[in-house]
Amino acid sequence: MSHVLRRTLTGDQPTIVRGEGAYLIDSTGKRYLDACGGAAVSSLGHDNRAVRDAVARQMETLSFAHTGLFTNEPAEELADFLVARAPQGTGEGRVMYLGSGSEAMEAALKLARQYHVERGEPQRAKIIARAPSYHGNTLAALSVSGHAGRRAPFAPLLIDVEHIDAAYAYRFQRDAESEADFARRMADQLEERIQALGPQNVAAFVAEPVVGASLGTQPAPAGYFRRIREICDRHGVLYIADEVMCGMGRTGSLFALEQEGICADITTMAKGLGAGYQPIAAVMASEKVVGAILGGSGKLWNGHTYMSHAVATAGAMAVMREIEDRDLLSAVRKQGARLEAGLRARLEDHAHVGDIRGRGLFWTAEIVQDRASKKPFDVSLNLAGRVLNAAKDAGVICYPSQGCADGTAGDHVLLAPCFTSTDAEIDLIVEVMANAIDTETSRI
Ligand code: PMP
Repeated sequence: MSHVLRRTLTGDQPTIVRGEGAYLIDSTGKRYLDACGGAAVSSLGHDNRAVRDAVARQMETLSFAHTGLFTNEPAEELADFLVARAPQGTGEGRVMYLGSGSEAMEAALKLARQYHVERGEPQRAKIIARAPSYHGNTLAALSVSGHAGRRAPFAPLLIDVEHIDAAYAYRFQRDAESEADFARRMADQLEERIQALGPQNVAAFVAEPVVGASLGTQPAPAGYFRRIREICDRHGVLYIADEVMCGMGRTGSLFALEQEGICADITTMAKGLGAGYQPIAAVMASEKVVGAILGGSGKLWNGHTYMSHAVATAGAMAVMREIEDRDLLSAVRKQGARLEAGLRARLEDHAHVGDIRGRGLFWTAEIVQDRASKKPFDVSLNLAGRVLNAAKDAGVICYPSQGCADGTAGDHVLLAPCFTSTDAEIDLIVEVMANAIDTETSRI
């Protein structure tokens, strides 16, 4: 049934009535190939039977019991699963569930703060993050985000967070600078900032292992995170890995950080955890952090009503089982290589594509006005938005990000197809995206 009256604040969009594999279908019958999983959410496509059945089964026995009084089986099973597969060094970690990536970031920041207070270092309150970056929309998570446009209207409400440069190779790596030197120079910005603030005042450093929404699927240069780990350890600073977008298999390993050979003290995850079947996020604390809490007050200083929701955790557990039972991490690596090859073949020499970057099934094309100078198109042209609309008209959905008004980043389109994508779907995504970029850049 289609509704004439649109009462939601985002109601001026087509009404989606059904999901079918990689496709979304609207009330007029139009089919959209979902090439971005919304925002790297729908990793299993839109009609996974195993997840749907697991959710329905759980509702037959238990939906909700407050975490202030109880735990439940699906919540514990999922926590076991995540901790058992966490990057080496996490140890006997523990998990807390939340409803969104932003809430997970809030919880991670509070957990970091609790860790230091419990250990008798209450002066440690400074957070260092990177720019560009995006870590969520609630006030503390937005404060952590190095995203000028999203911060601007709320600036007076934000908390004071320090930012260093993200390891954004296309724009920040110098000519003739080796990858190792670039990695070291960028990571050493953390050392310098910690020294400037006084190591005894710094609580945590926040960074995505592979960047998503703010600058588009940017993996770190080799060695960067090893050095970050060393610097954090040397100064007693916690490393919070934001795996909300890049985690849960998206880059070809369950946790993106696994590929960097280090572990985080606190990890956030969301989107791919419920894969769109349930709104669920999680924070995992390593043994080191858990130990400080258990050896201190013994209580978590954070809580929400719907934590450990039995239906949400049962749904997420079914998503994790699908990934493992069907060996979907191998599929991510295989189809990711096909996506990369297709994008490079069609766009690498394009006059307005400056960079193609990514990992696994997580890829971005950065669009620029001029390849030689890397000058972005004027933001007022909204090129990324135009590419999205052209692709959407042609029946493919991508995730666009506008360039920065200060010219430090170009428009880009992010692709995050589902892990079950067929060869034909990957090829169609490349074809439609390349045509949309072609058409829209040639119109300007
Ligand atoms: N962290 C990262 C890395 C994200 O990409 C996002 C969402 N794009 C968030 C946090 C916030 O998640 P949510 O929108 O679920 O609040």
